[in-house]
Amino acid sequence: MTKFEELGIDKNILKAIKELGFENPMPVQEKVIPHLLSESNEDLIALAQTGTGKTAAFGIPLIQNTDFSKKKTQHLVLCPTRELCVQISNDLTNYSKYTDGLRVVAVFGGASIENQIKSIKKGAHIISATPGRLLDLLNRNVINIKEIKTIVLDEADEMLNMGFRDDLEAILSETSKEKNTLLFSATMPSEVRQIANRYMKDPIEITIGKKNSGSDSVNHICYMVHERDRYLALKRIVDFFPEVYGIVFCRTRIETKQIADKLMQDGYNADALHGDLSQQQRDAVMNKFRIKNIKLLVATDVAARGLDVDNLSHIINYNLPEDLEVYTHRSGRTGRAGRLGTSIVVANLKEKQKIKLIEKQINKKFEHLAVPSGKEICEKQLFYLIDRMQNVEVVTSEIDSYLPTIYAKLSHLDKEELIKKFVSVEFNRFLDYYKNAPDLSKPDDTRRSSDSRSSRNVEGFTRFFVNLGKKDDLKPASLMGIINDFTGIRDIEIGDIEILKSFSFFEADSSFSEKILKSFAKKEYKGRKVNLEIAENKKSTSSRSKSKDREKEGFRNSRKSFGSSRRNDSKPRNRRR
Ligand code: AMP
Repeated sequence: MTKFEELGIDKNILKAIKELGFENPMPVQEKVIPHLLSESNEDLIALAQTGTGKTAAFGIPLIQNTDFSKKKTQHLVLCPTRELCVQISNDLTNYSKYTDGLRVVAVFGGASIENQIKSIKKGAHIISATPGRLLDLLNRNVINIKEIKTIVLDEADEMLNMGFRDDLEAILSETSKEKNTLLFSATMPSEVRQIANRYMKDPIEITIGKKNSGSDSVNHICYMVHERDRYLALKRIVDFFPEVYGIVFCRTRIETKQIADKLMQDGYNADALHGDLSQQQRDAVMNKFRIKNIKLLVATDVAARGLDVDNLSHIINYNLPEDLEVYTHRSGRTGRAGRLGTSIVVANLKEKQKIKLIEKQINKKFEHLAVPSGKEICEKQLFYLIDRMQNVEVVTSEIDSYLPTIYAKLSHLDKEELIKKFVSVEFNRFLDYYKNAPDLSKPDDTRRSSDSRSSRNVEGFTRFFVNLGKKDDLKPASLMGIINDFTGIRDIEIGDIEILKSFSFFEADSSFSEKILKSFAKKEYKGRKVNLEIAENKKSTSSRSKSKDREKEGFRNSRKSFGSSRRNDSKPRNRRR
């Protein structure tokens, strides 16, 4: 195995990284550091997931290639989020603990620009920046990047996903042709390739692991369910993994809010992270999650980007991302730092093809499992409870004084009875909740047909009004065609369609509501301007009572705690569990 000492790293940097606990170089470091420390000055593309040690791979050479006799900016690192930007700057400062005179400055949006300007004016050999704020500072002539030696595009795919393409191009065009460009990306979609083709000179390409592949430390599980059972399945899965600590990915802000709210109402230790939160709210949620006050973070891809937590046990794809490449990013957030992780997909029956495409992309097969039954969950929780009991620390001094009374009260019970009773105190509630719970993986058709409408209204269908009807020659098939064409998505699950004379109603999977509304705006059909609105849901009495039955499984009125992912109201909420 190669040692750090063999990579040509300066002794002061070696001393600092040893103190950080870096014993041996990680694969990306082994490949990238010698290349950047050589005189070759070739551009480089490194395909590496987050968490693979890429910050040190580019950071160590940047420090070593800095001319401390000059005050001007020599290297620029661009990254997608404020959190990553700060982390990079902190990491570089740590690596240069014993390197005198290095100045690293982080510039990012959502913080005082004046303070950042002051820091830059004191001198910034290396700037770590988010593209928007950097452009702002360039426009104010605070930073000069015309003569930088190196530009690093970190998480390039994420920057493009987040819509920074124009900013990146504007920044790159300000730099000189002689500079060295380093591009780090977990995936290589065509947009990244285009940037590379346009702004890099014959880059050498390094791949850590297989291209676009998922990490070996992650196993991938798929639960197939009916669309209407998606939320119930999520709760079953969470209950089946009592130690779960992970992110539940949703597709839209609205869905994120809805699912987080439902989980919280149902007594789970969850919260939401999405773009509607202020930076302060966002920081507060992230901090609670980092210290495990929150066990389930329900998030959109964009909002979760800045979150750097290495010890997640699970990633749950409540809905698959529209761009399937994003699955690699999501699943790469677990199974880090030598741990094993699990990436779970809850998919509906129409998403089978997508699962196959992801399998090709990650070069791994999903394990297809049935959604855990009530009985399986009860068993799992029971043994989790027993394990906790076995491992609990007994603080004798605290309970000693109560023991004589407790012994006296329980003296009529023998050992077996005593165990049964203690276990039942916690476990009966679980048995109660899961009594008669339906099998979500093999839904029986009677149940489906009898309550399909009610469950749709409850479980994620939105009813739309559209100003097209029979007089426009509209038929169910043509309406579905219009939805496909306008949205550009072919597999939106459509519920009831009601075509009337001059207008119609249809139900569609709520997770696509925003997309449907947006894509219908300013559209015409057969020369008529289309008007689409969300309609009131039908509320027949029978459907309401049936929906109540289904929701019963949802612990709606219970805030009691079983597994650690559920809140225990007997404890203060903010206590670490
Ligand atoms: P990164 O991909 O740069 O975010 O790094 C992921 C994690 O690995 C960070 O916590 C680093 O501090 C850590 N790390 C990076 N390089 C090494 C190394 N050679 N040995 C041990 N840990 C490392």
